[in-house]
Amino acid sequence: MARTDDDSWDLATSVGATATLVAAARALASRQGDPLVDDPFAEALVRAVGIPAFTQALDGAAGGLADAPAARVLLDVVAVRTRFFDDFFIEAAAAGIRQAVILASGLDARAYRLRWPAGTTVFEIDRGEVIEFKARVLADHGAVAAADVCNVAVDLRDDWAAALRAAGFDETAPTAWIAEGLLVYLPAHAQERLFEAITALSVQGSRIATEYHRDGGAGIAQRASAMSERLASEGLDLNLGELFYADDRRSVVDHLEHLGWEVTSRPRAEMFAAHGRSFPDDPADQALRDSFSVTAIRKAI
Ligand code: SAM
Repeated sequence: MARTDDDSWDLATSVGATATLVAAARALASRQGDPLVDDPFAEALVRAVGIPAFTQALDGAAGGLADAPAARVLLDVVAVRTRFFDDFFIEAAAAGIRQAVILASGLDARAYRLRWPAGTTVFEIDRGEVIEFKARVLADHGAVAAADVCNVAVDLRDDWAAALRAAGFDETAPTAWIAEGLLVYLPAHAQERLFEAITALSVQGSRIATEYHRDGGAGIAQRASAMSERLASEGLDLNLGELFYADDRRSVVDHLEHLGWEVTSRPRAEMFAAHGRSFPDDPADQALRDSFSVTAIRKAI
């Protein structure tokens, strides 16, 4: 179903199910030989959501979703991407940053699985249904975070900055922000406001990591629509391509530079190579190849 300005979801429907999809990919990627990612919570979270197509993939069902060629590329993409954001937080912590914000946290368990230095606060922002579900399942599994975890249940199309401040965010402290798997699910104007608000909340030395799709995500949306046919054959009615906002959007790199950040961006194939993996040559994967891992540091204000 097409997006509307006030649509909502849980982890089994619409945009929420994409969080379950990537968590399933993280669970499977964690089982690979020489894994780039070790997420001990992803499988329990995906099973708790209970979408059959994903639990069957975790069960290793022959001929299931995990065997589809598109899924194999997706596993590597998620593994390399997860590692990129993990490394970003680890480096920010090593540089002395003790405040982290995970925008659109979904089923991301970094707050629980990374070794945060003492005194770190991790704010997780997502819609209430998503935040509450994950917190409950992780508590049931006895997950203990090394950081203070602060859940902020708010829609990122609304005034999320006010909700973050109300939750105790310290505007005077340098912050490490991530926006992973988020931007294509926001309308262009909400993406612009997102980076403006982040900038307003970021003192010099703050950092951000995100992704940039040169075509605004249109190619990935097309590819995702094709994958939806496969999901439908597994009994999951989820048209991934329709969940993306297809409006023209400003380049994340240009926008952050304009807002006073020093930006570095690395193409996907380079990220793969850095982790000893080669990105497939298949033209069907062109849209995925044309994506960049972006990091930025807030310059003097
Ligand atoms: N960042 C997580 C990860 O990589 O595992 C989740 C990514 S998932 C593809 C997209 C996430 O964005 C979902 O958890 C969804 O709830 C969140 N999201 C999308 N639009 C949102 C909005 N307007 N407000 C709050 N969360 C949103």
